[in-house]
Amino acid sequence: MAAPVPLPTVDAPCFLCGEAAADPVWATPDRAFSAPGLYSVMRCRGCGFLYQRPRVADDHLADCYPDHYPRHQEPSPRLPFKGSPARVRAVRWALATALGYEALRDRRASALTRLRARLLLRRLSWDCPPWRGQGRYLDVGCGSGGALGVARALGWRTAGVEVDAAAADKARRFADELHVGEVQTAPFAPARFDLVTAFHVLEHVPDPVGMTRRMLEWLAPGGLLIVEVPNAGGLGARLFGCAWSGLELPRHLSHFTPQSLGDVVRRAGGRIAWCRHRAQPRWYFWSLRHWLRDRGRNGLARLAERRPVHGVLKFGLEIALPLVARAGRGEVIRAGVVRAAAEGEASGYGDPPSGARRRAAAGGEASEDGEPPERSEAASRSRRRGERRWRTPRAERGGEPGDGGDGLAAIHKPLDNWMRATLPYGRNRFPRPDAKRLEAAP
Ligand SMILES: [Zn+2]
Repeated sequence: MAAPVPLPTVDAPCFLCGEAAADPVWATPDRAFSAPGLYSVMRCRGCGFLYQRPRVADDHLADCYPDHYPRHQEPSPRLPFKGSPARVRAVRWALATALGYEALRDRRASALTRLRARLLLRRLSWDCPPWRGQGRYLDVGCGSGGALGVARALGWRTAGVEVDAAAADKARRFADELHVGEVQTAPFAPARFDLVTAFHVLEHVPDPVGMTRRMLEWLAPGGLLIVEVPNAGGLGARLFGCAWSGLELPRHLSHFTPQSLGDVVRRAGGRIAWCRHRAQPRWYFWSLRHWLRDRGRNGLARLAERRPVHGVLKFGLEIALPLVARAGRGEVIRAGVVRAAAEGEASGYGDPPSGARRRAAAGGEASEDGEPPERSEAASRSRRRGERRWRTPRAERGGEPGDGGDGLAAIHKPLDNWMRATLPYGRNRFPRPDAKRLEAAP
């Protein structure tokens, strides 16, 4: 059998600023699907952006995705209205009071229902988009339609864009309209949608700014764009370096931090209205497995997957990870983006409820926005209804965590110092000679 041939690549400069000079940071093979070749990430000397270079040639990007790529498989939408009637009542109350689904409001909801709603809210606010305008929804890079299925169950009119034809076929049943092809060729008129989402899409495309600009054009006045990407500025990337599970080479062409995502959004004519972090144990387990195997510790890697050891590690992570997410060092960042010209439109319904979610301690995940100032309009509106107040995240959350005097410094400063002083990142031994030390936080 002939040796596999690496995918053709092109040596392109920084996707953001066009600067040619860059320093190598990480290099790995394809750990998930074994596409042949060794791929590397560079850090732009101009703007600090982390990007794949050389990157897989545009014509061969599709070759990075095997037929069994998970996002293209049969979807299992996280449908909100499932379970007992009591749970469904709580879900409806949570959606109505915290995510703007006024049509679901039931004033007879009992105190128990309202309490349960609060416990469900953290999970719901990740799974269900906030209601906007007339309920016209577009999911870009919809895969086989998981997010579209949720949106349709919530009453949205749905549309999708997907480049993979087989995945698009599966998504069709959840979409009123579906464009199979690139975002730039999608025929939707400007200002057509109240909500546009792109979950784990931006890091896969060669022109994240162009794609973001296009998505912003599709927003109606008052519309919201939600973008979710892995966080290269999080604890996982710091700890595990080129073993970080979010690296996902060669499929991930860009590696965003909250700052560089903010930079992309700004260049595309938008503004980050809020930013949330999420950290789940399984992402760290994937990274740990890569990290141990890179060091030839296959036995230890297997041990970490054994039930008792895994259980103890997971328990520790579940205690620690809410702090990590609170400090803005999560594995995944989700940003709410508005058009820059639409300053002020992001207030009111639809912004994630930070305070209420913080009090809800359920679930093995963590998500946080920090301590944003309340917007008086939203606050007084909820006070009038006699509901528990919740806070809208501050616009500056796209920046370096805690850098705006947001009250989180007390958490993130010691965490940062500890990360720098004690973790492998500090005395870094990357297994590959061509992968240089990550000098500073990306
Ligand atoms: Zn650059």
